[in-house]
Amino acid sequence: MKKKVAIIGAGIIGLYTASKLEEKGFDVTVFEKESIENVGKKSCSTLVSKRILNFIEVDKDLIENTVKKCLIKFDKKEVVLEFNPEHIVINREKLVLRMIEKAKFDIVFESKKINCKDFDYVIGADGASSFLRKKLGLKDPGFKIGLKVEDDIKDFSNTVKTFKTNNGFTWIIPKGNYIEYGILEKKENIKKEWKAFGKVGKRSSFAIIPQGLVLADSNKYALVGDATGLTKPWSGGGIIWQLYEAEMLVKHFPDFKRYNRDVKKFFLFFIIKGKIANKLVHFVGNNLSFLVPSYIKYDNDFPCFLKSLFASNQKK
Ligand SMILES: Cc1cc2nc3c(=O)[nH]c(=O)nc-3n(C[C@H](O)[C@H](O)[C@H](O)COP(=O)(O)OP(=O)(O)OC[C@H]3O[C@@H](n4cnc5c(N)ncnc54)[C@H](O)[C@@H]3O)c2cc1C
Repeated sequence: MKKKVAIIGAGIIGLYTASKLEEKGFDVTVFEKESIENVGKKSCSTLVSKRILNFIEVDKDLIENTVKKCLIKFDKKEVVLEFNPEHIVINREKLVLRMIEKAKFDIVFESKKINCKDFDYVIGADGASSFLRKKLGLKDPGFKIGLKVEDDIKDFSNTVKTFKTNNGFTWIIPKGNYIEYGILEKKENIKKEWKAFGKVGKRSSFAIIPQGLVLADSNKYALVGDATGLTKPWSGGGIIWQLYEAEMLVKHFPDFKRYNRDVKKFFLFFIIKGKIANKLVHFVGNNLSFLVPSYIKYDNDFPCFLKSLFASNQKK
């Protein structure tokens, strides 16, 4: 008889994990607390590298714009990062709905209570404030806040602009038929920094962005996606890293110990390096900006600092 798996959360990561486990021969049911009308509406810029296409089929009509570069504005210097690979802006809500349409597993919307005893394995893909993480008594990862507003100004340019704030950054993303302004900051600073940025728009939303890595130590329960707190320390982007994480979960399923070990082995290095680089870039960019090249070719998912600088010199 097929082993039964419950996945909590029909976000991108829960749905991806569910489809892969279903392909592997498990009997999968996804539980989503929102209604079908509200699913996928989470606040998210959904600017990701084209690596997403290695995991998920993204139909052309879901791509709102292509982004090749990121301009970072420091006090006295502007640095251009050329994204390698290129990035795309995806309509998140439509992507989630498309994934749901294609799903070959059961999805229960507006789920209230999940009876874990009915399942052999339970996966928490239930986002930053994960219910399962709390139920298992695990500590929360740290959090920052992500806030965005949209304005109906057409912009099909290919450059994102970012401006360093004290503990994060503000951004302007050209999303084709509209522009997005946003901020990633610590809760206590966000009001002040957002006011200083001075952008207004028509539609606004916000959500917490976890920053850390929390894994469940269990033979029955596992966490994946935002529930584990795995986001890039320099950008708060989670989707690509979490798809790699989900891939590791599926590969080792149901050996959660090996899953945890592989995730730590692969990501801890990037997390620590990212946190140090964040502080360094902020200081050097604002105080010793002559040390920073004005053009850098950069892998925004798995950066290698030396390789990026080498690519910069070649371009010059
Ligand atoms: C403002 C902002 C901008 C961002 N921009 C980017 C970006 O440009 N690129 C990028 O890569 N990342 C970005 N992120 C991060 C990205 O959104 C997350 O890392 C990613 O969406 C996490 O996906 P997930 O499937 O794990 O969680 P989620 O998308 O949060 O999905 C979790 C699902 O679980 C459901 N759920 C929660 N609790 C329960 C429960 N008890 N029972 C049943 N269902 C439940 C929720 O309703 C939701 O549908 C951004 C985040 C924010 C806040």
